[in-house]
Amino acid sequence: MGNPEVLAPEPAAGVHWDVDVDIVVVGGALAGFTTALHAHELGASVVVLEKAAQVGGTARKAVAGMWVPNNRFMQQAGTADGKADALAYLARMARPLLFDPSHPHLGLTRWEFELFEALYDNADTAFRALEALGVELEQDAEFPDYHMHLPEVTAPRGRELFPHNPDGTRGDGESFIAALAGLMAQRQIPVHVEHRVAGVIVDETGRPVNAGEMGRVLVTTLENYLMPLIRYEIGDYAVAAANICGCGRTLPLIGRIAGRAVDLFRMADGRMVSPYDLISLIKWRSEIRQFQIVQQGFDRYQLRYVSERPVSAQTEAWIRAKFCESLDARVVVAFEQVPEIARTRAGKFMPARSELFDDAKSAGAERCATGQNECRHPRQTG
Ligand SMILES: Cc1cc2nc3c(=O)[nH]c(=O)nc-3n(C[C@H](O)[C@H](O)[C@H](O)COP(=O)(O)OP(=O)(O)OC[C@H]3O[C@@H](n4cnc5c(N)ncnc54)[C@H](O)[C@@H]3O)c2cc1C
Repeated sequence: MGNPEVLAPEPAAGVHWDVDVDIVVVGGALAGFTTALHAHELGASVVVLEKAAQVGGTARKAVAGMWVPNNRFMQQAGTADGKADALAYLARMARPLLFDPSHPHLGLTRWEFELFEALYDNADTAFRALEALGVELEQDAEFPDYHMHLPEVTAPRGRELFPHNPDGTRGDGESFIAALAGLMAQRQIPVHVEHRVAGVIVDETGRPVNAGEMGRVLVTTLENYLMPLIRYEIGDYAVAAANICGCGRTLPLIGRIAGRAVDLFRMADGRMVSPYDLISLIKWRSEIRQFQIVQQGFDRYQLRYVSERPVSAQTEAWIRAKFCESLDARVVVAFEQVPEIARTRAGKFMPARSELFDDAKSAGAERCATGQNECRHPRQTG
C-alpha cells in the first residue's frame, strides 16, 4: 500500500492459499465495507469474509443517523461547531463521573481525550471520503442533538447525517448497506458470505496443518465486544477434520480435540500424543480408584494411583503394554500408590500432565532405561 510503516508480509513458502490478498476484512457490514472500499481505493487487493448468510450485520437494523460534528453541511451553511464545546459534550456524555470542565483533559485520561479529539478532527474528513467513493449523504438541519439542553451543546442541530437514497428519500441502515454493497460490486471486491473467521489449527511453526494432522488451535472471534480475540491461542490441540459439515457448508472443521498443551505427551521423535486413549484404557481397571499419568522424560512416565492396595505385577505389566501401544514407543513406567492425587492451584483434577510442557524442546532426549520397568512395543521387538 506504499505505507513505509506497514511491514511487508513474509512469503509463506510451500503453503497453498485459496486466495492471496493484501487485506482480509472480517465482517461484511458498515465497518467492514468502508474499510474494504478505502483499502481498495489505496491500491490494496482486498477480500471480505462474512460469517452470516447475508451481508449487513447490525447495520441493517440501524436508523443510520450519524453524529458528525462540524460536518461539511454545517461548514457550508456557516453553522459554528467549535471543538472545545464538542469535546466537552463528548466527555460529559461518555464519562459523567470523571467530567471536569476545568481540567486540561476534561477529567479524562489523556488517551481518551485524544480519542475524542481524533473523532472531532477527522469525522468530517472521513465522511467526505465516503462521499468521494460514491456514498450519498444528507443532513437533517432540524434534527435535534441528543441532549441539546446542555450548556456545551452550542450547535444543537445539524450534526446528524443520514444516507440519501437515489430516489431522493432518506436512507436507513438497510439502504446504506445496499449502497456500500453496490460500490463493492462495482469495484469487484470479493465478499464471501458464510465464511466465519473462527480459528485455524497450526503446527509449531504457525502453518495451517493438513486434514488429519494435529496442531495448536488459534481462535478468532469478534463477538465479544470488550475483548475481541484475534488468532488467540487457547492452549488446546486438535486434529483438523477431513470431512465437511453435513449441513453442506464447506468451512473447515475441527475433528478430534487432542487435549490441552500441558496434557500432551512429547515424544523423542517430535510427535505429540494425546493421553486420552491411554486414560480411557486405564480408567476401566476397577482396582484403581483414581490416577494421574505424569510424563517426566521423553520415555519416562509415572503412574500415580489411589487404590486400596498396591496393584498386582500383572496389572502393572498390562498397563505398561498399553503405554507402549498407545504411545507407539518404548517407555518406562513407574507406579506409585498415593493417598490422593493433588489438584492444581485452581482446584482442577488433571488425569495427565507432561513435565516437558514448559520446555519440551530443550529437555533433550533421555535414553530409554533398561530393566524390569521397561516395556517393549510389539513392533520393536519383532
Ligand atoms: C435498532 C438499532 C438502531 C441503531 N441505530 C443507529 C443509528 O441511528 N446511528 C448509529 O450510529 N448507530 C446505530 N445503531 C448501531 C449501529 O447499527 C452499529 O454500531 C453498527 O452497525 C456497527 O457496524 P459494524 O460494521 O461495526 O458491526 P456489525 O454491523 O455488527 O457487523 C459486524 C459483521 O461482522 C460479522 N462477523 C462477526 N464475527 C465474524 C467472524 N468471526 N467471521 C466473519 N464475520 C464475522 C457479523 O456477522 C456482521 O455482519 C443501531 C443499532 C440498532 C440495533
